[in-house]
Parts: sequence; C-alpha cells; structure tokens
Amino acid sequence: MATASTPRILVVGGGYVGLYTALRLQRKLKRGEAEITVIEPQPYMTYQPFLPEAAAGSISPRHVVVPLRRVLDKCRIVPGEASAIDPVRQRVTVVTPATAEEGGEALELSYDHLVLAPGSVSRTLPIPGLAEHGIGFKTVEEAIGLRNHVLEQLDIASSTRDAAVREAALTFVFVGGGYAGVEALAELENMARFAVRYYHNIRPEDMKWVLVEASGRILPEVGDDLGTYAVRELRGRNIDIRLHTRLQSCDHRVAVLSDGDRLPSRTLVWTAGVKPAPILAASGLPLNERGRLRAEATLNVIGAPGVWAAGDAASVPDLTAEQPGTECAPNAQHAVRQAKALADNLVATLRGRTPTEYRHKYVGSVASLGLHEGVAFLYGRKIKGYPAWFMHRAYHLSRVPTFNRKAKVLAEWVLAGLFKREIVSLGSLEHPRAEFELAAGGGRKPDVS
Ligand SMILES: Cc1cc2nc3c(=O)[nH]c(=O)nc-3n(C[C@H](O)[C@H](O)[C@H](O)COP(=O)(O)OP(=O)(O)OC[C@H]3O[C@@H](n4cnc5c(N)ncnc54)[C@H](O)[C@@H]3O)c2cc1C
Repeated sequence: MATASTPRILVVGGGYVGLYTALRLQRKLKRGEAEITVIEPQPYMTYQPFLPEAAAGSISPRHVVVPLRRVLDKCRIVPGEASAIDPVRQRVTVVTPATAEEGGEALELSYDHLVLAPGSVSRTLPIPGLAEHGIGFKTVEEAIGLRNHVLEQLDIASSTRDAAVREAALTFVFVGGGYAGVEALAELENMARFAVRYYHNIRPEDMKWVLVEASGRILPEVGDDLGTYAVRELRGRNIDIRLHTRLQSCDHRVAVLSDGDRLPSRTLVWTAGVKPAPILAASGLPLNERGRLRAEATLNVIGAPGVWAAGDAASVPDLTAEQPGTECAPNAQHAVRQAKALADNLVATLRGRTPTEYRHKYVGSVASLGLHEGVAFLYGRKIKGYPAWFMHRAYHLSRVPTFNRKAKVLAEWVLAGLFKREIVSLGSLEHPRAEFELAAGGGRKPDVS
C-alpha cells in the first residue's frame, strides 16, 4: 500500500527508455516501495525500427506498437504531454487530453525521482515549403500515412491525362540517408514496384525514387564499406542517390536541389536527423550544445539529484570510447541498455546504495534495403545481402518488447511469405466521417481538410 511517504517516481515519455525503465522498476521494486507514474501522450510505445516494414505493409500498424497499460500493469499511466518541468519545486505540468479538450487547468504532478525520457523530434531547417509539403518518419501515423499516400499517387498517376501531374505523382523524394530514410525509401520502393504490376499504364521505370544526402555517404551506422555497398545496390534498383546534395526549397511541390536540379514531386519525406524533445529547453536543467540533457555516466542529470535521463534526449558519456568526451549515440541499442542501468541505479538509490556507471560498447547495426536485401555490421563483421536482411529481422524480432508482439510479427512474416503483399490504400480511414457528411449534407462535398 502506498502512503504519503512512499517515494514517487515520475517517468516522462513512454518510448524505448520510458517503457523499459518502468518495466524494470515494476519488476524490481517491492510492493509499497515506490509509486511509478508514466506520462505519455500516446497509449503505446512505438518500436521505431519496424516503421519501414509497417509502411511497406509487411507488419500491421498495431503490431509495431506496445500498449502501455497492458504491459505496465503496476504503474499509473497518465495520458498527456509534459508541458513544463520545475526541478526546484519537483513538479511536472501535464496537458492531458481532457485539459486540451475542455480548456481546463493542466495537471501538476510532484515527484521524488524524475526520469526524463521524451526522446527526440525531427530536426528540420527553415527550407521554403518544407513545413507545408514535407512529412517526417518517426511515428506509426506518419508511416501508415505515407504508405497510403504512395499508393494514392499511383492511382493519381494512372488516372490523370496531365503529364506534369503524372510526373509529380510518380516522383518520391527522401531527404536524409540515415537508417530511417534509407529503410523507409527502400521498403516503400519495393512495395510500389510490386503494386505497379496491377496498373496497366505504369511501369516500374516510370517511377523516380530520389534520396538526397548532404554528406558523401549513407547509413553511417554500418560504416563506409557497407554504406558504399548500399549506394551501389540501391542505384542498381534505379534509385537516384544524390550525395553531397541538399534540399534548397520545395515551394509549390517542386524540390529544388543544391546541384541545380528541380524535381516536381508530390512526396517529400524528411528524415535528415533528430533533435531532443522541445520540453527540455525551458527546464532549467543543464543541456549540451545540441540541447541534450547533460547526464553523468550513472544517468543522473548533472547537478540535479533525483533527476535521471537516458536515450535520445540525454547526453551520456561513452566510457568505452577511445576518445575522451565522446557521448553515446542516439539509438535504440543505447536506449534499451541505458533504461536498464537507469532503473537499477534508481532502485539502488532508493535502497541507499551507490549507483554504478553505464558502460556499453556499441556492437554494430543492421539495416534493411527492402525485401531480402540488407547490410549488417556486427561485432566488426560486415554482412551483406540476404544474410544481413535475415539478421535484421531476427535481431529486431528478438528486441521488440513482449512475447505477444514477437509472436504476432513472426506470424505476419510467415503469412506474407505464403501470400502476396497487400497493396490497398486505406487513406480514407483518415476521414471516417466523410461518407456520412456527404449523405447528411444532401450530396454536398464534405469539408475534410
Ligand atoms: C524509422 C526509425 C528507424 C529506426 N531504426 C533504428 C535501428 O534500426 N536501430 C537503432 O538502434 N535505432 C533505430 N532508431 C532510433 C531509435 O528508435 C531511437 O534511438 C529510440 O527510439 C530512442 O528511444 P527514446 O526512449 O529516447 O525515445 P522514443 O522511443 O522516441 O520515446 C520518446 C517518447 O516520449 C514521448 N514524449 C515526447 N515528448 C513528451 C512530453 N513532453 N511528455 C510526455 N511524453 C513525451 C514520445 O511520445 C515518445 O513516446 C530508429 C528510429 C526511427 C525513427
């Protein structure tokens, strides 16, 4: 039973770090030892490495997310967004769906220990037209929206008589060559290539898939050699990879590139990096030059006892790096392991013991380049093609939280091997009232903007 003196642990964010920290805390803490509250706007954790496969239709959207209430059954889940952190008064302000809807007062939650795990958001630039026409690739909504959008472009291209509209519909521009951008492009191109078999007037070579990358390589996570291999593979599939190139503007749905090219396109996907969640900026807590929370290797925020941070939002020293001052890269591998270390240190602190330092040597990365094609750099070994793709699937299957999700994803993959891909666009799901409004409005076209 919790009493007034029971320590309160508040976790901001229910992503990788938030979910894994809360899971371990609920498993390790004895009854009544502490109260755990998780604040998260979505009722689920998103397993982001599966988003490209969700976009391609290989995994259903509901299987790339993990329901927080079911998994964190010993925690209190507060649906909402932390809007302010006051480390002096030890309080966090939360805007819940009810406050947002009714305009009432925001919720104030106090804590003894605060775990900051709000992750990151897309890092955008003030490029003309980007905010109006671009889409990110960090959420399940974006991934599924993009899938529907790509399939809709095939319908538009197939049904128009206007050559300019057709060209823009069949041109897909992705900006940013990290794993999010490359995997999303590779999976969606694969899906669209399959889908055009069913269009009498579109051939695969009519589509233009373009990857724009400012540096001289893609997939830096897997190293130079495999990055070069990935460029060669993708170019072999007729994917246009522009290295040392930047997007300069995309007004009026024309992507203007720094190499002087102008690409009319109805699809612009922005995956050119991430920045820490905006909530941290006004928290008064110490931040590094990129806005990440400065944490000790124990995952305690520097100079803020009782405040902990990990994952994309935190700058944690990498004690295994040869160069002093290196910080852990923002990726899932560190996020999961830091969450475990953070939970252990928090429990140790509650029990009057000394926390230990986080130390993990990065083991490498795996990336899919579409169905049956991938690259993997693991424990110093370079693997390409089908074996790398297989390892990519095996690795992520082993990592996706809960046995239930693992079984469902595996079942979907097995079924996908037996039957053909689904290529239907369900974009109309985004406007569920359109049909009824049309009927009720006497045939007037509904406002679904
Ligand atoms: C498409 C894609 C593919 C990826 N593939 C790989 C991969 O193959 N390998 C790899 O290592 N990494 C990969 N990553 C990166 C990896 O997913 C991230 O590094 C990891 O999710 C970071 O975990 P986190 O807990 O810090 O943030 P997240 O998992 O993003 O969780 C943050 C959570 O905080 C919530 N939140 C934000 N603001 C607030 C607020 N104010 N109040 C309350 N809650 C808030 C968010 O809703 C979110 O649920 C990929 C990322 C993407 C987008």
